[in-house]
Formats: sequence, structure tokens, C-alpha cells
Amino acid sequence: MNWQELSKQQQTVAKVLRHAIKRDELVHAYLLEGPRGTGKRNVALLVTQTLFCEAPTDQGPCMTCRNCRRIASGNHPDVIWIAPEEGAASIKKEQIAYLMKEFAYRGVESGRKVFIIEQAEKMTAQAENSLLKFIEEPHPGTLALLVTDQIHQLLDTIISRCQVLSFVPLSDHSLFRRMTAEGLPVSLLKSAIALTHDYEEASRLCKEEWFAEARSQVLQLMQRLFKSIESVLPYIYEKFSPNFDDNQKMAVGLDLMLLWYRDLLSLHLNRQEEIVFEDQMDKLKEQMLSLSSDRTIRAMSLILDARRQLDAHVNGVSVMERLVIRLGGNLNEL
Ligand SMILES: [Zn+2]
Repeated sequence: MNWQELSKQQQTVAKVLRHAIKRDELVHAYLLEGPRGTGKRNVALLVTQTLFCEAPTDQGPCMTCRNCRRIASGNHPDVIWIAPEEGAASIKKEQIAYLMKEFAYRGVESGRKVFIIEQAEKMTAQAENSLLKFIEEPHPGTLALLVTDQIHQLLDTIISRCQVLSFVPLSDHSLFRRMTAEGLPVSLLKSAIALTHDYEEASRLCKEEWFAEARSQVLQLMQRLFKSIESVLPYIYEKFSPNFDDNQKMAVGLDLMLLWYRDLLSLHLNRQEEIVFEDQMDKLKEQMLSLSSDRTIRAMSLILDARRQLDAHVNGVSVMERLVIRLGGNLNEL
């Protein structure tokens, strides 16, 4: 990540930090807080690399010099990362004590030292209290970057001694860019993001074989429902339900169906840019011609009804069975 990319996703954060670095006006402690998956850790890395880079440009660190590489791999002597130790639920007082010992000396190489505390909310109360003393009387040349997605779990006294930088949730558009860069298939991605609005969750979903299969089965179901209602129930019993064998999975199935009808509605309203199942455009257009916008909305409310039954722990297969019969009726009513 460089500063330009960051500006696109987290405009305010980028502005504050870039400005402070340019003018050499960084305060001694920043708290990077905001939802998961918004790039807080990457920003901590970006700031640190920018400070130590041997050949920084206006856009940020070069990423190739010795310092950039050592920071990225966690091997720079003047940069310390603290996080809960493997398998541990919290950041312990001893870890903060280690940090303080390390910081009692000037930076080995540049007179500057940076420490980054990831999942800062996981500090024990004792760890927080030790850290508090430390950031109250900072050593010159030290920079603290605390990273958290649970700011309310931190002591007020810690928060008040840091400059708080709040990260905003990424827009669907930025999520999409970031995930296609990871090589995830576009058609799956679009559905996963529309379902979750959460980068990590969507990314996890796309990597599950089950989800690809679920999406393709829902598409088949929507096609069968449209062509001949008679073939739908056998399909549900034989093919569909074995793959949607618990209510959580069935809920994803219903949500995907809802997205399908939402796409039909978007077509009716001429909002093509909102279509999720872009790769199914021909089928969507064909169905749109025979389902009025009123009936599309009616279908959506039937699915929402089914979703509520599922939340009330009605058996998933019975919910689906009832739903497709009602959706079939919605198609054929005069
Ligand atoms: Zn560099």
C-alpha cells in the first residue's frame, strides 16, 4: 500500500498522517481504530516504512530497500510489534515490560523507535497500566501505534493519551478492487460482498468450495422455478437440501435468492450498475420480462418471510419447500 491508495480508502487518516510526516509533526502515540478489514495494520506498516525508508518518494516507501524489507518481515531492530502470543487470549504485562526495556535505549540505527501493538484491546489491565506510564512520559524519538477494532475495550486514559484515527468501513467498490487483486473469482465475489458487506467474511466465503456450489445451485433453482414449477420440488429434495443441510446454510441460500429478485427489480428500475449476478444477465432479462416489478417485490417479501421462519428455527427444508410453492403461485397467479 502507498499513500495514494490509502487516500482512496481512508481519506482522513491518510491526510492526517501524511501531513504530520511531511512536517515532522507526528505525535508520540496514535490509536488506529475501526472495523476489521479496513487496513489498520497496513497503515501502521506504511507509516513505519515511510519513516525508515532509505529512498522514500512522495508516494511512500520504496518497499525494496533494506529497511523497508526488514520492517515488512518484522526484523528491524528499531521496530517492535506486539500482539497476543500464539494461542494466548491477551497481551501480558511481561510483553509490555519487554517493550519498555527495549525502549530505554535510543534507536539502534537512527535514533528513532516505533512500536506497534496489534489487537491492543487484548492487553490485560496490568499491561495497560504499564503502557500508560510509558506513553505518558515518552522517550524522544519514539512513536507508538496502537491498533484495535474494539476501542471501547481500552481504558479511557489510554485513549485520551493517543491521537485517535478512526478507519471507516470500506465501500463495496474498494472491497471489490482489493479482493479481485487477490485473484478471487469475480462472479463469486460480487455475491459474497452483497451478502456480507464485510471484507474478511466475504473473502472467507469465496474460498469455501461450498459457497461456489451453493451459488450455482441457487441459480439452477431460480431457473427451474421460472421454467417449470413441477421440477422444483424434486430438485429441492434430491439436489438442493443435501447441500444446505443446516439452517445457517439455508439462510445463505435464501439470501442469494433474495439477491436474485433484487437484481430483477434493479433491471425493472433500470439500475443495471447494481446487478449482482452480472454473469447471468441474459437469464435475468428473460425473467424480468415475465415478472412485473410488483410480483418481484412480492417474491422478495415471501423470501423475507421464509427467512424469519428460519430464524425461528423452523426446519430449513420445510421452509424452502413452502417458499418455492408460494413463489410458484406468485408466478402463475393471474
Ligand atoms: Zn525503502
